Parts: sequence; C-alpha cells; structure tokens
Amino acid sequence: MPGPQTSETPPNGPQASLPEAVSELLSRWWGFEQLRPLQSDAIAAALAGRDSLVVMPTGGGKSLCYQLPPLVGDSTDVVVSPLVALMKDQVDALEAIGYPAAALYAGLSEGERLSIRRRLEAGELRLLFTAPERLVNTGLIDLLARVGVKRFAIDEAHCISQWGHDFRPEYRQLTMLRDRFPQASVHAFTATATPRVREDIASQLALREPATLVGTFDRPNLIYRVVPRADRTNQVMQILGRHRGEASIVYCMSRRETETLAARLAAEGFLARPYHAKLTPDARHKTQEAFANETIDTVVATVAFGMGIDRSDVRLVLHTSLPKSIEAYQQETGRAGRDGLAAECVLLYSSADVFSWESLVRKTVQESELDADEAEAFIASQLEHLHAMRRYARAARCRHRGLSEYFGQDYNEASCGACDVCLGETESLPDATVVAQKILSCVYRVEQRFGVRHVCEVLRGAKTEGVERHRHDQLSTYGLLAGLDQRSCENLVHQLLDQGLLTRSEGDRPVVQLAEAAWEVLRGNQQVVLLAPRAGKTKTTKADADDWEGVDRELFEHLRRWRRRVSQERGKPAWTILDDKALRSIARDKPLSPAALLRCRGIGEKRLAEFGQDILDLVSRSA
Ligand code: ADP
Ligand code: ZN
Repeated sequence: MPGPQTSETPPNGPQASLPEAVSELLSRWWGFEQLRPLQSDAIAAALAGRDSLVVMPTGGGKSLCYQLPPLVGDSTDVVVSPLVALMKDQVDALEAIGYPAAALYAGLSEGERLSIRRRLEAGELRLLFTAPERLVNTGLIDLLARVGVKRFAIDEAHCISQWGHDFRPEYRQLTMLRDRFPQASVHAFTATATPRVREDIASQLALREPATLVGTFDRPNLIYRVVPRADRTNQVMQILGRHRGEASIVYCMSRRETETLAARLAAEGFLARPYHAKLTPDARHKTQEAFANETIDTVVATVAFGMGIDRSDVRLVLHTSLPKSIEAYQQETGRAGRDGLAAECVLLYSSADVFSWESLVRKTVQESELDADEAEAFIASQLEHLHAMRRYARAARCRHRGLSEYFGQDYNEASCGACDVCLGETESLPDATVVAQKILSCVYRVEQRFGVRHVCEVLRGAKTEGVERHRHDQLSTYGLLAGLDQRSCENLVHQLLDQGLLTRSEGDRPVVQLAEAAWEVLRGNQQVVLLAPRAGKTKTTKADADDWEGVDRELFEHLRRWRRRVSQERGKPAWTILDDKALRSIARDKPLSPAALLRCRGIGEKRLAEFGQDILDLVSRSA
C-alpha cells in the first residue's frame, strides 16, 4: 500500500465532493485548516449514509470523522465507546469548543440523566456517547428511535472481535443495531486491526458494502528505541532526564513495580505518581487529573492507564517491560505525540519478560473455565501475539518498518531517521563471541542444572551461599566475567536465550541448558553478536529539530504557564484549552491582532473570543 494515506475504496471519488460547509465548520469550530485525506473520505461516507470501516492509527484523527458530520445537517448521532473515561474526556474537549455533546453512563445522577434525555428529545445534542451495554439494555434504544437517529459510530470497534487483542463480549450485542435501525448507517472505527480482525468487524456489525478506509500505521513523528534492560531504575532515570518538565508515561508490568518505581523517581525530584487498577477510584482520578492539568509530568502505570488519556503532548512513552502484543505496543506508544510533534518511545527489553508472560498466560487458562480446545486456542493466540512482539524487539532492523509490516503495510523509506537502528545507536559488545563462549561453557560446567541467576553469579565470581554450597567457586569458569555487574550479565544470558543458543526448561525452577547450536559457537565455528546492555547514546532526530523551527521557546513556556493556570482554574485538562501544537504555532508566528491569531493552528472563533485577549497580551509583552 504505497503513499502516505490510502483508501481502498474511495466512497465518493475525490475530496471535492464534500459540501462547502465542511471546511467552514472545520475552521470555525476547530480552527483546523484542512481535513486529512482519510478524514475527507470518512466524512463523505458518513454524509452519504454509507456504512464505513475506518482503520486509522492512534492520533490519526478518528474522532473528527464522527464529530463533524452531525453539524452539517443538525442531526443527533450516537457514538458507542467502551470506557466512561474515554467518553468524558471527549465530551470535555467538545464542550471546550462549544460543541453540544453529552455522555450517558452508569455513574450519572438522576438529574443529569434526565437533563441529557431532555436535550436529546429537544434535538439540542449533536453527539451522544454511550457504552454498548447501555445501548441495548435500557429504554434508551426506544428513545433513539423516537428522535430518529440515523448514524452510529462504533469507536474501538476491534473490541468486537475475539481475534483482536482486546475482546469485549458486550460489543457483540451491537449486532442488534442493524435490526432496530435498518435505515441508519453504521461506522466502525479502530486503530489496531489486522486483516482478519477487520473482516470480523465488518461481519459482526453486518456492515453493508462499507467504504473501507485504511490509514497508514506508521507514525513518523515517533522515535522508537529498544534498549537492552540491565539496571531498570537507573535506565529509567537517565531516559526521563531527557524529558524534564515534559509529559511522560512509564509502563510497568506489575502494580508493585509502579509503586516502587514512582517512589524512587519522586525521591529523585521527578514529578511522578503511580497508577494501577487496584488504587481507589478517587486516587486514580486524582492522578489522572494531575496529569491532565500538568501538576505532574510522569505517570508510572500498568496498562490500566491510558484509555481516555488524551493529553496530546506526551513526549515519552517508556516501557520497562515487554508488552504482550504488537497491537498493545502500538496502542500504548500511540499515546505519545498525538499532537504530531516529535516524541520518543523506548522499550527496555529482556527476554525474561517473555517467560513471565508465558507463565501468566498458562496460569490464566488454569484459573479459567475454558474447555480443553478453547484453552489451547487461547494459549496459541496469546503466544502468537507475544512472539511477534519479541521478534520485533530482537530484530536489528528499522522499527518503523517492523511495525508497518506487522499491520500489513509496506514501508518505503530506506531509512526512517527516527529509530535506534536507523540512527545507528545500537551498540554491539566488543568480543561478543568470546563472552558468549564463556557463558555457554559455564552453563555446561554447572551441568545444565541451574538458573540464569546462579550461572551469572558463578561467572562474576560472586561468593553467594549457593555458589559455596555447590563448590562452584572451584570451577574453571568461576569469575570469568568478573568485571560485569549481575544485571548486565543476566541480560547477556537472555540475549543468548533469545538467539536460540540456550534453552530454558519449564516449571517453577527453570534451568538453562545448551541448545544444539551452542556447540558450533563453543567450537569456534560460529560468531555471535550481542548488544551492549545499557542505554546507548542517543542522537537528535530531524523531526524534533523541525518541530521547534522558529519557535520562541521562552514565549512557549509563558504560554504553557498561562495554560496550566487556566486548566487548574477550570478543572479541565490543559490540552483541551489549547494543545502544544497550537502553543508552538503562536510562539512561532507571534500574532499581534485577533485576525493574525485566528490564522494560528487550533484557534477557532470560540477560543478567540475566550482567550484571544489573554494570548495577545502575552505575545505583546514578550515582544
Ligand atoms: P484518534 O482518535 O485517531 O487517536 P484524535 O481524533 O484524538 O485521534 O486526533 C489526534 C490529534 O489530531 C488531535 O490533537 C486532533 O486535534 C488533531 N487533528 C485531528 N484532525 C485534524 C486536522 N484535520 N487538522 C489538524 N489537526 C487535527
Ligand atoms: Zn528506522
């Protein structure tokens, strides 16, 4: 699929077929100059009442595709969304531009619910957000029929597919929409769909000759790096140090890790807080809010954090362990740089995580009520996803290419200029073959009966109780890698496991053993390449330099401070006031009149009326 944006079946020919009103609405309400190509096609389909399946990466601009059409003919459209947080954020953002939208969900008071119903019946709402289970189980559906809803947008539509990575059974109930609203069009939106999931969405929702619009998955403004994990905490601090004062998300595998790491970071002066599913709703909410209004920079979280976090200026997403699938990775890293400005995504990789995930998958199955066939299918599907992720992390090839190809798209750049591989940052270990031989012989000397940790203790010449008890300090391999710290040594052993030179037994006390291929290395017939286990030096990328081109950084910081104040006063996320891209555009153009300000990105009539004077004052004071 060549070209930057591709639509497989253009619904209405070229973009010109959109009514005049569309571009006027776009600039009046949103302050955007033009639609992105795929947005045009999606909006044309919606206006024509033709079903559609829109597959766009996170940050691609899906929401506009269902937000704009109801403004054209003053209709009321319905958006189905899986999570309350997600709906609330969108409604907040829409209210910030004066757009009449509301969300119906379980936590509302009776009064709030009645008021929404009243606005719905009076035809005041352009968009109503709701969850799938609400849509089918209440009198809501009758009400929607009464007000004559003609368009349904299904957000995060991959949740309907059991082949997806995020199946939600309640989505299956949406199949009834077709029967209840035979005249309405249905528009499915998702960021992560492999071809199989895509077909499944279309058939589950019974889409009728849908316009299938598939965007490019590549996110050129994201800089991907995979770094061998050795000393997690120090690596995290080093990487976060590159983003002081900027928004970042640090993902951990377990709840405990999020707490210890956040505490360590806070002690080092980072504005960081933990986030996971076991916190009280109140504590979770406070952290989200602090992040949204910029009182903290960093959230250290399990993957429970993210859906609905729309802060668009996240400059770093750091994974301290391996995500369970490329879909999950794409979605989590998708939270970086949604404003289109350069952002960094770092994965600290150790194959130890692969084993943790494998045993977790097996445990989940044991505790579930799946029958033998289902269990087998579930395990196979989970492991397939996991191993694709592992291949991505291990491969010494362009990360942008790797991700694009996984989603079935060609990547035509020779070098992306925005990943560790293309930037030439990956550092190989000198004498890797000799180091590998030392490790392999040590595994052999301890009779292939010990785990990674013990093998490394012997290699490093540690005097632990286990080493002494087994008299392993007598071995010829004792202390062969004396200069190495324990974590770096374990990282090297994991790289050998990854390369299939070592294998690991199953069970509670896994031991490492030599694979067949190890003998070729030991005999000196095969060379080994290992990565140096530490965060390498990073280079500046072109994207980052371009984004700052001509921006008065001091003015930008003034604007940010002003935005933080407004955000705190109003209790609204800072990015809904104005996003970073808008601030940079102002700090670049330095408008001195309302007309000039209107030309800046993200400034529509409502924002001009609301903030115009404040902003113009700031600009003229800094001139
Ligand atoms: P998605 O839902 O696909 O992840 P969003 O709808 O949140 O993406 O849009 C991502 C970002 O792109 C937002 O900051 C949004 O304001 C911006 N955006 C969307 N469409 C346009 C456009 N036509 N012109 C400029 N910015 C846009
Ligand atoms: Zn690359």
